[in-house]
Amino acid sequence: MPESDTLTTVKPPFDVDKIRADFPVLSQKVHGKPLVYLDNAATTQKPRRVIEKVRQFDSEEYGTVRRGSYKLSEHATQMFEDVRQKVAGLFNAADKKEIIFTSGTTQAINLVAYSFGKAFVKEGDEIIISNIEHHANTVPWQVLCEDKGAHLKVIPVNDRGELIMEEYKKLLSSKTRMVSVNHVSNALGTVNPIKEITRLAHEAGAKVLIDGAQSTPHLKIDVQDIDCDFYTFSGHKMYGPSGVGGLYGKYDVLKEMPPYVTGGDMIRQVTIEKTLYADPPARFEAGTPAISQVMGLGEAVDYIQEIGLDKIAEYEHALLEYGTRVLSEIDGLNIIGTAAHKASILSFHIDVIHPHDVVTLLDQDGIAVRGGHHCAQPTMQRFGVSATTRASASFYNKFEELDALAASVRRAIKLFS
Ligand code: PMP
Repeated sequence: MPESDTLTTVKPPFDVDKIRADFPVLSQKVHGKPLVYLDNAATTQKPRRVIEKVRQFDSEEYGTVRRGSYKLSEHATQMFEDVRQKVAGLFNAADKKEIIFTSGTTQAINLVAYSFGKAFVKEGDEIIISNIEHHANTVPWQVLCEDKGAHLKVIPVNDRGELIMEEYKKLLSSKTRMVSVNHVSNALGTVNPIKEITRLAHEAGAKVLIDGAQSTPHLKIDVQDIDCDFYTFSGHKMYGPSGVGGLYGKYDVLKEMPPYVTGGDMIRQVTIEKTLYADPPARFEAGTPAISQVMGLGEAVDYIQEIGLDKIAEYEHALLEYGTRVLSEIDGLNIIGTAAHKASILSFHIDVIHPHDVVTLLDQDGIAVRGGHHCAQPTMQRFGVSATTRASASFYNKFEELDALAASVRRAIKLFS
């Protein structure tokens, strides 16, 4: 029996079929074939209870938050703040005031780059990112550096897609103001040693932002243990609605930061001459937030916590190992990103077929994967490709679906050979 077959016998720590039944979208057929959804790094599907929570809130409980003193509004405000508490609990933040709701990771990083940058970055300072960042954790820092005359430094990666820590140490200096790296790379799946990265940055006197867009759906996060200054997340990647996500920030750091977006809700007092700003988190939440989506996010947090992030990580690791094995057996396919510590992301390149063609052919078999540069062009440049095909698994995926992926890839290669 090939070794890959023996791996199917790994017993998931929960009933995967039962979990799949929670996700209405997964039961459909695409081009007459059962949908195999393997684009979870782009966005995850929603369990029925998240969909239902938003519907029920909108039909029975909807009201604006933080403004009205009538029952609907007071109730909505209470529920909104309860979700803030849930998110704080999920990441083990010391206080719910350290959680700021944003539209997602992109806005959270822009908030820090703009606000922290405005107050604390000056000409000649340095910002460190890595060579395997999403554009959302690249462009805001480039813009800041341009505005301030600061310099962007980049931690290189080895051929497996792991940060070269010796090079990182050399980049750190008294000029470093911020180190901003992802916890998990969306293009390669690398899990970065963020605790060590944070410790070294703090020794140099720099602050640290961790882009958690890809880690929060898969790993248990403890921001106090990591000791980072900022940590970001996106609701739509953790089984919640799109349009909502957020930023964890250490309260002492947030308190010293100026507002990013200004307007209603972020003030203490406004006169025509001068405005006094509210304390965090309100200071960073100007305008009416994504109220209904926040309710859905709260339900998603409950859902993943009830399954258990330890169990999720354990099962997804088994999927990663199995997927790596079945794809590695295919001639002409190269997996890009082979770090020792990886999340369940399989990026690969096939010499004879462009990733866009792979995606189209796989779609004919009902398989949804992503082809492209994954908003990580510097990563693609590092590995000498313009694009990859990326399959990203979640705890609702099954070993059989990875077999289906491999079989479909083989068919695609045959067509092009
Ligand atoms: N960082 C990483 C690592 C990501 O994978 C993504 C989404 N692909 C983002 C940032 C941006 O997240 P969002 O689009 O939810 O703002």
